[in-house]
Amino acid sequence: MDNTQFYFIETFGCQMNVHDSEKIAGMLRDLGYVETKDKNNADIIVFNTCCIRETAESKIMAKIGDLKALKARNKNLITVICGCMTQQRGMAELLKKRFPFLSIVIGTHNLDRLEEYIVSYKKQKKFQNIVWDKEQEITENQKIYRDSTNHAFVNIMYGCNNFCSYCIVPYVRGRERSRSVDEIVKEVKSLAQQNRYSEIVLLGQNVNSYGQDFKDGVTNFVYLLDKLCKIQGDFKISFMSSHPKDFSSELVDFIASHQKMSRAIHLPVQSGSSRILKLMNRRYTAEAYKSLVDDMYAKISGLSLTTDIIVGFPGETEDDFLQTCDLVKYCKFSSIFGFVYSKRNGTPAAKFENQVPYKVKKDRITRLFALEHQLQKEELLSMVGKTFDCIAEINDKGFLVAKTENHKSIKIVNGNKSICGEKCKVKVKALDEKELLGEVLK
Ligand code: SF4
Repeated sequence: MDNTQFYFIETFGCQMNVHDSEKIAGMLRDLGYVETKDKNNADIIVFNTCCIRETAESKIMAKIGDLKALKARNKNLITVICGCMTQQRGMAELLKKRFPFLSIVIGTHNLDRLEEYIVSYKKQKKFQNIVWDKEQEITENQKIYRDSTNHAFVNIMYGCNNFCSYCIVPYVRGRERSRSVDEIVKEVKSLAQQNRYSEIVLLGQNVNSYGQDFKDGVTNFVYLLDKLCKIQGDFKISFMSSHPKDFSSELVDFIASHQKMSRAIHLPVQSGSSRILKLMNRRYTAEAYKSLVDDMYAKISGLSLTTDIIVGFPGETEDDFLQTCDLVKYCKFSSIFGFVYSKRNGTPAAKFENQVPYKVKKDRITRLFALEHQLQKEELLSMVGKTFDCIAEINDKGFLVAKTENHKSIKIVNGNKSICGEKCKVKVKALDEKELLGEVLK
């Protein structure tokens, strides 16, 4: 008889959660579970949740409700809810009341101990509410199951000290705690030795403040990058997310002078209006952001900038929004992650007056995306006829593509998949709708 036990994980939210799910997968594999993509076959189901927007939370609640039918069919099914949503005060009790069939509710601070909680649930068969108020311990030597072949996520720090007025993260992820330089170097070295990853992505809510909690006057983000760039291997280093207020000119110079550093940088601006930035508690002005971007373009060749923008923040006028559009044109972003402001209970902005009507927010986000589309088209058209140094890889749709240094994807029309993972020179021949088409040069 086949006794294989299957796990199913659904991840909501950001890269930090995606990487947490890789750790969850590592723990479940250690317990002998095998992955299934079909939750109907699963013996354990984990929802790794997000609470950045209330809409995300409602969607997750509906999905948890759907688990009731699966639990009715399989009495031994273990259901686990974890992540930022569960870390909110009172949430575990609320979930248990609303969904009595749940097995384990665990917060962000002790997620690394999920394995032991599952073992204990299996013995006791009793609901476990394990949400710690105490901040997450940094656990080293975790079993991480990475199924990406191109990039590997590495946490360098946890938590955030910034308290942007719209954001719940500092309340559910705690204050900034950095991993030691030695541990990070050890992890990146072992990833480099596997020779599988073309990119190592360093993760933190604000990587630019890495090491500040050590208060040793030496350790900072550039210090860490310097150590990582010395590791042998053919890979690029990128990072997310960055806070513009902490993006130093030392960091700009470092990226400019180190080929191992990726030229694709995500620098969330959130708004182009200094007045709104102040209300958001971002602690930089639109002018300061633009001058940082000027410095980056002047020094970092092949720079590709992406950003996050929130439209319809409380009090945002049409003029504020037009300032955002001007900043978008000025900064020539390759891509924008645009969001409509949504009230998040527990944050200061949720109590602000002058909430912007939904119709106005919807109109602004539509105009922002139209602008992004126009700018992207101009940028891609400017690449036609040029040749780029790339790495060949297979994209999500199974096509052979070439990735440029600044993360542009070119569909290869004359190569075969045997070149996957290799460096190649690709000439862009045409732009088909949003897709660049290119040929590998012999
Ligand atoms: S920097 Fe601001 S937006 Fe980013 S996680 Fe911290 S509080 Fe949230």
